[in-house]
Amino acid sequence: MAIIVQKYGGTSVGTVERIQAVAHRVQKTVLAGNSLVVVVSAMGKTTDDLVKLAKEISTNPSRREMDMLLSTGEQVSIALLSMALQELGQPAISLTGAQVGIVTEAKHSRARILEISTERIASHLDEGKVVVVAGFQGVTSSALPGGSQVTREITTLGRGGSDTSAVALAAALEACCCEIYTDVPGILTADPRLIPDAQVMAEITCDEMLELASLGAKVLHPRAVEIARNYGITLVVKSSWTDEAGTKVISPSPCARSLEGLELVHPVDAVEFDADQGKVSMLRVPDRPGVAAELFGEIGRQDIDVDLIIQSIHEGNTNDIAFTVASNAASRASSVATAILPALGSSQARSQAGARERGEVIADNNIAKVSIVGAGMIGRPGVAAQMFATLADAGINIGMISASEIKVSCTIAAQEGDRAVEILCQAFDVSSHQATFPGRAVGTSALPGRAVGTSPETPVRGVALDKNQARLAILSVPDRPGIAAQIFGLLAQHQISVDIIIQSQRCRVINGVPTRDIAFTVAQSQVEVARLALEELRSVRGRPEKSEWGYSEIVVRRAIAKVSAVGIGMVKHPGVAAQMFAALAAQQINIEMIATSEIKISCVVAEAEGVKALQAIHAVFGLAGGQTIMVPP
Ligand code: ADP
Ligand code: ASP
Ligand code: MG
Repeated sequence: MAIIVQKYGGTSVGTVERIQAVAHRVQKTVLAGNSLVVVVSAMGKTTDDLVKLAKEISTNPSRREMDMLLSTGEQVSIALLSMALQELGQPAISLTGAQVGIVTEAKHSRARILEISTERIASHLDEGKVVVVAGFQGVTSSALPGGSQVTREITTLGRGGSDTSAVALAAALEACCCEIYTDVPGILTADPRLIPDAQVMAEITCDEMLELASLGAKVLHPRAVEIARNYGITLVVKSSWTDEAGTKVISPSPCARSLEGLELVHPVDAVEFDADQGKVSMLRVPDRPGVAAELFGEIGRQDIDVDLIIQSIHEGNTNDIAFTVASNAASRASSVATAILPALGSSQARSQAGARERGEVIADNNIAKVSIVGAGMIGRPGVAAQMFATLADAGINIGMISASEIKVSCTIAAQEGDRAVEILCQAFDVSSHQATFPGRAVGTSALPGRAVGTSPETPVRGVALDKNQARLAILSVPDRPGIAAQIFGLLAQHQISVDIIIQSQRCRVINGVPTRDIAFTVAQSQVEVARLALEELRSVRGRPEKSEWGYSEIVVRRAIAKVSAVGIGMVKHPGVAAQMFAALAAQQINIEMIATSEIKISCVVAEAEGVKALQAIHAVFGLAGGQTIMVPP
């Protein structure tokens, strides 16, 4: 009999009636001839209520006790669902994570799953029972590497982690599919709470979903998508209230992967290299709505395909925008940029000191782009830092950096390309045949995990808003190999994940030391820790590099929002970025930072404009439908 794993979220089991409705749905699937494992979340807002309760007792409760507390929420719902099934005459048994044997790392409140024992579940399924498993929780291993025994501890996987429990169980049990039942009819083109006429997508690839989930589309836990992608699990997101088909999350074909260290697979699947790149930098363009739209609108009209785009932080009232194109288009792109410069009003731009600043276009045909790719980078800030350190150790200077959830790309001097690929393959244990060369390859991209053959009509699949970010900028950092590694290595030590990373194009020489600005976004909750860590790095006390860092300055801006558009179709539609920038300009929304990858464009805007920005880009890509999605309370 086929095994199906179904997961029901908090709202879906929020009341007795809803639990009974879930029991009916589960029984229907069993009667259709399937073996069923059901994962449930805590009822309604139970987890939030438990968090509040803890805060009334302690402002800083220990993570161990928090796990002990929060794991009780799921224990209530598994018992009630099991009883509801038994009431229907359907044999069922509830099991906690520890009873199943969902073994995790010993990291309270954010544990990753290491392995899952399937024996107990399998024997209950053989008895004809439905096995109801508590989501979001696991237990640490009892054995230490030396063979001695330690006490088992209850852990949780992080908020929203029941999705991850369900997909991990599906992988361990080799289930035929994993169905995630929730309070919306599937994955929508945007959060329906912000955009009521968002549409349900029939399908989405794992890569697109990984980006969206990490960008604030909390309908799926990103780690659940990561497991589905790595193990080729068929994942479907559906409504708990209707029988509609929902959204299929398309995984690459299953590959034989060991279930050992389930969530601790290699963070990097591939190293990509593109030698065929040219860079155009526009320095000191005015900081006003519409500039990026005008520039990339014109580039698009000339039919030039843009790859990376980054826009750095402001200096005075000017910005720098840099982008890469195929090297044979670089001189054309540079002519377009030069021609448009006067029209952008660059001569009116003023520096902070009030002096007139002249815009400037610099083209560099001598660059290559090297990237690391892998779903396992999510939530592992050390991976990007390791890339920067590897390049630095080899004396390779990084030009532009663009980081997305599953990919970090750096531009470097073209002649360093082959060496960079070799050392990155070594550092991340990627065999050289997994290194791909998009610039040289013909045909479809060899991005791992990309479902080939899905051709969406619109280049953008969905949009997301993340209001939880803050921007940190370090101004005037010395420009030499190793600086990015130092900064992001330090942040990684503090477990701080960085999202958009941008290194300015403008180089300022201060006391003979060339300097640049580096700006990046982090979660608001981590910005203070990040600032303090960087202050420490910058502080001149007893440091040999004292004179180098002496002129730097750290600037924090909290009131930002990040709006992003995601879609694999972007690869074949050059004008997408220009369209997004134009939609924001039409609303008079100024773009503070831009970062792109092949399947994502993100813009940082003022926090107060976040929702308006999201609505504007959702509308411009034709994602709105006629139907309003009702979100139950
Ligand atoms: P569950 O309790 O079932 O796990 P969640 O609250 O975790 O449900 O996730 C479902 C919610 O995610 C929806 O009610 C919706 O408000 C929100 N959401 C955000 N972005 C999206 C999106 N792109 N598609 C669907 N839902 C989204
Ligand atoms: N109950 C947990 C939470 O609210 C886990 C989950 O619902 O996925 O975060
Ligand atoms: Mg959820």
